[in-house]
Amino acid sequence: MKLMRSWVESANNPDGEFPLNNLPYGVFSVAGDAPRCGVAIGDMILDVAGMEAAGLLRIADDFVLDVPFWNEVMELGPDAWQRLRIILFGFLTEASETKDALTRYLVPREKARMHMPLLVAEYTDFYAGMHHAKNMGAIMRGSPDLPANWLHIPIGYNGRASSVVVSGTDIRRPLGQTKTADAKVPEFGPSKRLDIELEIGAIVGTGSSLGQPITTAQAQEMIFGYVLLNDWSARDIQGWEYQPLGPFQGKAFGTTISPWIVSPAALEPFRCAAPAREVPLLPYLEETRPGFYNIELEVLMQSEGAASASTIARTNYNRVYFSAAQQLAHHAVCGCEMNPGDLLGSGTISGPEAGEFGSLMELAWGGKKPIKLDSGETRSFIEDGDRLTLRGHAQGDGFRIGFGDCTGRILPAVSMPGW
Ligand code: CA
Repeated sequence: MKLMRSWVESANNPDGEFPLNNLPYGVFSVAGDAPRCGVAIGDMILDVAGMEAAGLLRIADDFVLDVPFWNEVMELGPDAWQRLRIILFGFLTEASETKDALTRYLVPREKARMHMPLLVAEYTDFYAGMHHAKNMGAIMRGSPDLPANWLHIPIGYNGRASSVVVSGTDIRRPLGQTKTADAKVPEFGPSKRLDIELEIGAIVGTGSSLGQPITTAQAQEMIFGYVLLNDWSARDIQGWEYQPLGPFQGKAFGTTISPWIVSPAALEPFRCAAPAREVPLLPYLEETRPGFYNIELEVLMQSEGAASASTIARTNYNRVYFSAAQQLAHHAVCGCEMNPGDLLGSGTISGPEAGEFGSLMELAWGGKKPIKLDSGETRSFIEDGDRLTLRGHAQGDGFRIGFGDCTGRILPAVSMPGW
């Protein structure tokens, strides 16, 4: 697939993230105005909420863009998502005859503040990175052997929707209980082993019914789009609390997503093969059209005083072992109802080599091999004032499909007198 040219000239930049091929969904505001839905095109945002209000854009019988989130569009289902995409192509293609009427609905992205693009119904986090799972086993338990269930089940846990925030939101270092291996009793205080997890989030657009499983093919149709996702993790809190029920406070204090939701339609040219399987999957997890995508991913770290960010890892979304659709089908197979706005984290994405790991825990091997930043500083975990940024794009022939930066800075922990 080639670049589709737009009359918005900046959208034709081969290194830009938002060509006409992309058309991702976001929520923005300008100069303190109320947040509203927009679609990124080049260096601009098309104010689709304003267009709907003016009668220039109609997706459904009722208004669906008169709220500052995309959930009402999600609920319309995949036919409406496709219809909206075709309408937007018509408006923004180079040969468009409506450009004079649309110019007033274009807002420069640099003037906009981004907000959460959806109301997150619930957040579930999976564990589908095989290299990550092996590395974590080696670091935390002394063995890279996968747990007995890992190749068979998309392992996950129910996380917190309340602390999912949009890129650019500062994250407060969490307080909690920790215990080192040689200590007799736990201690309380700010996490000393604060980390990131490089993930892709899948957003459920249409729901399922309580008590009713879904197929992987149905699951693919239900996915509205994908975001970059940083599942911030406090390894010391996690290490003390996680047995026997899994992650809790070590993961509950913050999850950052990119400001733009990229549709499966935009990613379709980048669909790739499923990974080789060591064991056959049970039939309910098989996919006739594997839901995996080639998306190049990058992690950057910048300390408070550094002039620029250092790239500390590069990998690809195609490293995951279970697709988002397989995870969604597994989530619903017991009869668990899935709803519009549910967010599914892929699990940390790591490649096999050092430099391809999606967490500091792996990059600095549990603190044993601190990484060096371009500024000359070293890091095993995140220090106060550090900024961590995830970037990702699918590389086409003369164009890229991107998500916008997924970034967050760590603030010092809250001080509680007497604790
Ligand atoms: Ca995670």
